[in-house]
Order: sequence, then C-alpha cells, then structure tokens
Amino acid sequence: MKTLFRSGRVLDPSNGMDIYGSVLVEDGHIAAIGQDVASDDSTLIYECSGLWICPGLVDMHSHLREPGQEHRESIRSGTQAAAAGGFTNLCCMPNTSPPLDSPVLIDYILDKAAAPDAGGVFVAPVGALTKGQLGEQVSDLSALKKAGIVAASDEGAPIQNSQLMKRAMETCLQLDIPIMAHCEDRSLSSVGSMNEGAVSALLGLVGVPRSAEDIMVARNCLLSLETGCKLHILRVSTWGAVELIRQAKFLGAPVTCEICPHHFVFTEDSIHEFDTNCKTTPPFRTQNDLDVLLGALSDGTIDCIASDHSPYAPYEVDVPFEEAPAGLSALESTVGATLTYVTHTGMLSPLETVRKLSTSPADIVGLEAGTLQPNGSPVAQITVIDPNVEWTFDVAQTFSKGKNNPFHSHQFRGKAVLTFCGSEIYRDPFFNEERFILP
Ligand SMILES: [Zn+2]
Repeated sequence: MKTLFRSGRVLDPSNGMDIYGSVLVEDGHIAAIGQDVASDDSTLIYECSGLWICPGLVDMHSHLREPGQEHRESIRSGTQAAAAGGFTNLCCMPNTSPPLDSPVLIDYILDKAAAPDAGGVFVAPVGALTKGQLGEQVSDLSALKKAGIVAASDEGAPIQNSQLMKRAMETCLQLDIPIMAHCEDRSLSSVGSMNEGAVSALLGLVGVPRSAEDIMVARNCLLSLETGCKLHILRVSTWGAVELIRQAKFLGAPVTCEICPHHFVFTEDSIHEFDTNCKTTPPFRTQNDLDVLLGALSDGTIDCIASDHSPYAPYEVDVPFEEAPAGLSALESTVGATLTYVTHTGMLSPLETVRKLSTSPADIVGLEAGTLQPNGSPVAQITVIDPNVEWTFDVAQTFSKGKNNPFHSHQFRGKAVLTFCGSEIYRDPFFNEERFILP
C-alpha cells in the first residue's frame, strides 16, 4: 500500500527542510521525500498544494483523566481529540485517580491507547514523581520507566520540599528521564484564583502573585544546575520565569520549557465577566508578561508549545469563579491559536512553528517522532496543515468531552486538516474530496 502526500510545502525541522515537494509512505513507513517523488496507479494520493506537510505533531502536556475521571475525558475521547487537533503523539499527565505511580497503571494506559476504538495516536505516559502524588516519597521510578514512562512529574501537586525535589532529581538523572515540573509555591498561591494585581483587586478576587511561579522556577533551575537532572518547566506564564530560565540555560543547566497558547493570547483583562473558562493555573497574566513571553518564544528561550489539555465536565465549570477548576480543553484549539497568534503575526516562521509543536517536544522526552526522516519513527507520522483556512472554533464540534475553552467562537486562521499515524486517523471536512485521489 502506497500513499503520496503530493506537492505541498514540506516542513521538517529535524533536518532544516523547507521545500515544495512530496512525501511517499509505503506500508506505513516513510519511503521517499523530495521535490520529485514518483507514484504509480496503486498509490493513494493526498493532493497538498497550498498546504504544509509536517511531521506528526507532539503534545507533551495533556490530561486524559483516565483512570478515575472519565466524566471529564477518557483515553478514547482524548486521543480522538488529539488526532483531530493534528497530534500523532502525546504525553499524558499522572494526576489521575489514582495517580500514575505504579507499573500496572502504566500498562493500563498503554493498552487503552492502543485499542482499536482509540484515536490512533501514540500515548507516552508521564509517571507520578512521588507516591500518590503526596509529595512525601519518590515513586519507584525505575519500575515505572521499565513499564514505559518517558518523564516524571509533580503536575497538579508541586513538591514544596526542596530536599525531596533534589532527591527526585538525583533519581531521574540516574534513570535519564526528565522531570516535568509544575512551578508553584503553594504558600504564596494558596486560594488565589487569578493573577494578583489591579484587576484582581477590582474584581474582589484573591490573586496569585508572579512570585509564586518565579520562586519555584528559580529553585528548580538551581537544583537542575546542581544535580544535572533534565528539567522541563511546564507552561511558563511570567516575564520573571522566562528571565530565570534564560539565565539557567546560559549557566548550562539542562532546562527546557513550554508555553500554552492561552498564555500568549489572553491577559487578566479577559476575566472581567467571571468566565470560568478563563481560569487557569498559572493564571492569565498581564500584557507585559505576554510581550516578554512572545519574545522568548521567538528567540528560542521557550522551547515548545504544549496544550495543557485539561477537560472538565460542564457541571464542574458551571460554578462561581473562585470554586471553578483551572484549565481548558485545548487539544483541538492549539494549532489554530498558534498559527493565528504567532505564525501569521510573524513571531515564528512556518518551520519554527512546526519545531515548537513537533520536533522540540519529541526531542525533550526522547520520542521517536517529530521527523519526516525515513526510519525516524516506528510508523510514518504526518500532519497536514492548511495554514490559511479561516474557521470558527466551536466547542460543540470537538471530540473532547471537555467543552471548557475560552477560545470558543474565536476566529482562527490555520488548521490541521489531515492526521496520519501509520494510516489516516483524521481527515477534516476542509480537506475536501477533490484533494483525495483513490488508486
Ligand atoms: Zn497540566
């Protein structure tokens, strides 16, 4: 079986490729790539003129909610949402119920993700850094690594004790897995529900100061520098965090970080109507933060873009702002928001956009993904993006069970229109029949 992605803009950051050409897949594997790739009568053809042909996108920060929170999302619905969002690979976070702190739970995730009724994407679990995510005792990370975790994280329950974090880093260094750190000093953030400042004072809401994030970023960077453990900082939101990470990288610490689209689009001013879809951790910050974050994304200080897909059931977000859970169901809005707000505004070139959404996250967690090189991944992973299609993001049309997303009704320019992971796993109506030529 041959499939040809014909005559598109081929963007492969893994080897700096940005050409007009085609990609041939044979028996599920990339067989040829270039300006002139031959096909025959037995080839299925996707006509890609005007479209980008990219390595499958990689989301290194998603919450699939299973086991234990299937009213919010399941591995099935979450992986279908990923495919529809253009992703062929995702890392799922460990703050499920129970948390992912034992090999049997990792087996469970991998089995469910590989089931025929799932979305067809690869799922790479992230293990709980401490047992039960209680912040008391480092998990048996060696056993978890054998079971298939690609990183360990305290997401949702940041380790407050610096001695314990240091020990966790020493363990992860030995196992050669990165720590994905949620950076929040809980003694400062406590019951806050939005950014601390003039707007929180005006609204009468308790704020979360920037220092709650900055202090933990500084501590974790220093521990990474001291131990040599790879540290990936989840969703930065402040200018201070960016400056600290820039400094840590300069000093040689093996530190990387990500940003989520909602942190480069929204500011605290979006919260005037107490819309609980706008409640996130860390919170939307200020225009000043946003300007620094966009600069850092452009200059490479911020390594990648992640969704922090955090679906909730409708009844959970239909509550007063202070009581609402934080996060948005973002897998299906990430590409549209990224192209609209950073690519079409000139902050990132198309090649750098694909690097942030695919090659960089794959490299950070060591996935066989993020490349169009033949034999670069177990099966061909390709995402076709229409960079110019204009569409309205509508949560009612999403595969995710979570409909909590402040991008609802936003106009986007750019969309993933075809997702291929060994075979076609999603084809959007925008990729119309005329582009689809059967053998
Ligand atoms: Zn998260």
